[in-house]
Amino acid sequence: MLRILHQIFRTGIVTEPLPEAEAEIRVVGRQLEEAIRRRFRGSLTIRQVDAGSCNACELEIHAINNPIYNCERFGVHFTASPRFADMLLVTGPVAFNMEIALRRTYAATPEPKLVVAVGDCGRDGGVFGCSYASLGGVASVIPVDVVIPGCPPTPTDLLRGILAAVELDKKKRG
Ligand code: SF4
Repeated sequence: MLRILHQIFRTGIVTEPLPEAEAEIRVVGRQLEEAIRRRFRGSLTIRQVDAGSCNACELEIHAINNPIYNCERFGVHFTASPRFADMLLVTGPVAFNMEIALRRTYAATPEPKLVVAVGDCGRDGGVFGCSYASLGGVASVIPVDVVIPGCPPTPTDLLRGILAAVELDKKKRG
């Protein structure tokens, strides 16, 4: 035990500092934390739905959970079940074979639910557009509250979009 404590004190903190380019995360994060505290009692739960993306948007969404962005510290949590979700974070385009799954996920999410469409594909189909295999943007299948453009959007863009949706919720509920 003493040996471990000695090693801890001798090693110190070895994590990397936040890159200067992402310093804005602190500002956005503070606003998000405050908005979630006011509107969701400190905990916003998100169900992420991949409705047919190329997965690059998912990589950025994964990044907001990494030790640099660490969205949990702002009160943002992800869940596997839409039954526990306050918000759906949906990447697109909506593949033909995902339409029913997306509609059912939306129906299973309790009111008042927020829907955020992620990426240019989530907005309007992006580079995939509409075809025999693609229905285009998320709004062509379920109602959307906020769109986060970009291909893919950065983690900071994602947190900014989530913040916009939480603030929108504030207006909805008065
Ligand atoms: S917006 Fe870009 S990164 Fe996201 S799913 Fe579409 S092509 Fe992929």
